[in-house]
Amino acid sequence: MEASQRVKEITELLEKYNYEYYVLDNPSVSDAEYDRLMQELIMLEEKYPELRSPLSPTQRVGGQVQSEFKKIPHKRMMLSLANAFNEDDLYDFDRKVKEITGEDKITYMAELKIDGLGMSLVYHRNLLYAVTRGDGTEGEDVTSNVITIKSIPSHIDLDDDFEVRGEVFMPKKSLKKLNDARELTGEPLFANARNAAAGSIRNLDSSIAASRGLDAFWYYFVNASDFGVRYHSKALEMCDKLGFKTNPERRLCNGIEEVIKYINEYTEKRPNLDYDIDGIVIKVDDMSLYDRLGYTAKTPRWAIAYKFPPEEVVTKLEDIIFTVGRTGKITPNAVLEPVRVAGSVVRRATLHNEDFIKDKGLMIGDYVYLRKAGDVIPEVVKVATERRDGTQTPFTWIEKCPVCGGPLIRKDAMHFCVNEHCDAKHIEGMIHFASRDAMDIDGMGEKVVEQFFNQGFFHSIDEIYHLYEHRDEIIELDGWQQKSIDKLLNAIEDSKANSLERLLFGLGIKEVGAKMAKTLAKKFITLDNLASVSEEELLEINDVGPVLASSLTTWFKNESNMALINKLRDLGLNFEYKGSTSSAADSYFSGKTCVLTGTLFEMTRNEASKILEDLGAKVTGSVSRSTDIVIAGPGAGSKLDKAQQLGIEIIDEETFLELIKK
Ligand code: NAD
Repeated sequence: MEASQRVKEITELLEKYNYEYYVLDNPSVSDAEYDRLMQELIMLEEKYPELRSPLSPTQRVGGQVQSEFKKIPHKRMMLSLANAFNEDDLYDFDRKVKEITGEDKITYMAELKIDGLGMSLVYHRNLLYAVTRGDGTEGEDVTSNVITIKSIPSHIDLDDDFEVRGEVFMPKKSLKKLNDARELTGEPLFANARNAAAGSIRNLDSSIAASRGLDAFWYYFVNASDFGVRYHSKALEMCDKLGFKTNPERRLCNGIEEVIKYINEYTEKRPNLDYDIDGIVIKVDDMSLYDRLGYTAKTPRWAIAYKFPPEEVVTKLEDIIFTVGRTGKITPNAVLEPVRVAGSVVRRATLHNEDFIKDKGLMIGDYVYLRKAGDVIPEVVKVATERRDGTQTPFTWIEKCPVCGGPLIRKDAMHFCVNEHCDAKHIEGMIHFASRDAMDIDGMGEKVVEQFFNQGFFHSIDEIYHLYEHRDEIIELDGWQQKSIDKLLNAIEDSKANSLERLLFGLGIKEVGAKMAKTLAKKFITLDNLASVSEEELLEINDVGPVLASSLTTWFKNESNMALINKLRDLGLNFEYKGSTSSAADSYFSGKTCVLTGTLFEMTRNEASKILEDLGAKVTGSVSRSTDIVIAGPGAGSKLDKAQQLGIEIIDEETFLELIKK
């Protein structure tokens, strides 16, 4: 592949990952993968400088500013840090610092790199502002959320302005508590401490931040020189005295060798800390050298972040057990000797299918290498064959469904239980029915469905709506109180009014995902219309192929499915589509990436975003080459400039209103 093509490809990927990470707080790849791509881009740009654009991800701090919080400019740029991945990178950094400053030995401050959200606290005439890093030039005013962190002084005894920067983070204990609670209610889990902290601080409701057990460490006194402080170590001591929480694990190191010792020591200590760290930050202690060292576009030259390699551990494969999904799909799971990896204790890991187990050559009793893919999902990498000692036993694939004993069939790499009445299918079917994209029954997650199913309170979807008959029995169960059961029963009742697409998706018809359910609901308006439609008619719809058409018509021909539909009708569930029927695919904005900037008069930006999304557009927070349209109102600033530079289509509010009316 040509270098320019690869640069384009990586740039697009990194822009996508930045958006997911900084705006959505929901990354889809691991930091290690992101860093690998970034290093490749840096290398290519060094080799072919003509390919480096001023808007390249290598030149930008990264964060983007969302629209809901007020924006506040940073007095001094809030930068990112350059990365080091090994000792050579650290020696390189040390050599450059010495070259530029002309010093032959440098004292460094080594600090833990807390995995949280960078924050600036500005005390101005005894008023406090807490601002996120944002794009480095301006951030979001999240004061109301940050002041819920009790360890932060709400005022300080200084007359002059004072700015301190640090990291807001979620301690491991708080993250565990939060994820345990979310698991119980079926809400998606936070992938790691950083996302959880960022999600809490970026929430518009400050009671959420207050309830999340956040904390913060402060690591940089920005205007220390105004107070005559020359050394970073002394500046941190001053922060201590003013009542800020600084990290006590920091260490002043005489030369880069001592830094490396510190890194090795904390690589060992890392699992026992109360909070997650993803590296070590190394800063030149003498701040009078900072001006001479200077800055690159996005990082200071007087500091560097050493990043830990992705963590891989070895643990014992004690057994392989099987779960049965809603469609009858059999999934083998590794039962592991509990082991801590990348911030949490892992006991299980999916082994996907029979071929995966065979390819890896797994035997029961083996020691295996384990890591977390995307820092989240535990993954068995390979067998530690060097630890085989003859006690391992071969693994044999199962012949029958582990839940109902029914026969299995193999389709491609997967095995399926074909018994229609298998309990596992019913349980998974109900979990799916209640899930967020389906009927969205708050409080009815996996554990609750399993508990009620095993207690015999329900066995099928329609029986969910009879759960109230078991109210008195439920109150007797551990963990249930009047308030919680009534909340759940109300959520079940409320779900009856949901628009058709939710019900359609919830029914779990093969091939009908959430998006397709919406297309079908919009097209046919009622469930009865859809039930009587022919395969030919279905095939006329965009995106509907023969597999889906056949799956849908077969489903509606099945007697027990129709019996279920009739029961749901008698129970009073809504069978009609309630949304707008205008076709998103026909709209001017369909499939386009749009950015809103400046002031709108007819609606808020949130409302405009919602309309655009309904019309099939994707709305992002910043302008890049992948932006198609910028909707700009008065007061639009840098985003408008950038759109003009990149030659992107720009429309005003009036044109926008006309286009959406069409
Ligand atoms: P960074 O994580 O490499 O380091 C800079 C940040 O470290 C600072 O802004 C500060 O918030 C923090 N920090 C923590 N402890 C500190 C201390 N003691 N002193 C100074 N700073 C400290 O840089 P970044 O710009 O925040 O993020 C870039 C990184 O984020 C990437 O290298 C990648 O690992 C990750 N990322 C991942 C994805 C993804 O999709 N997985 C996307 C974007 C970024």
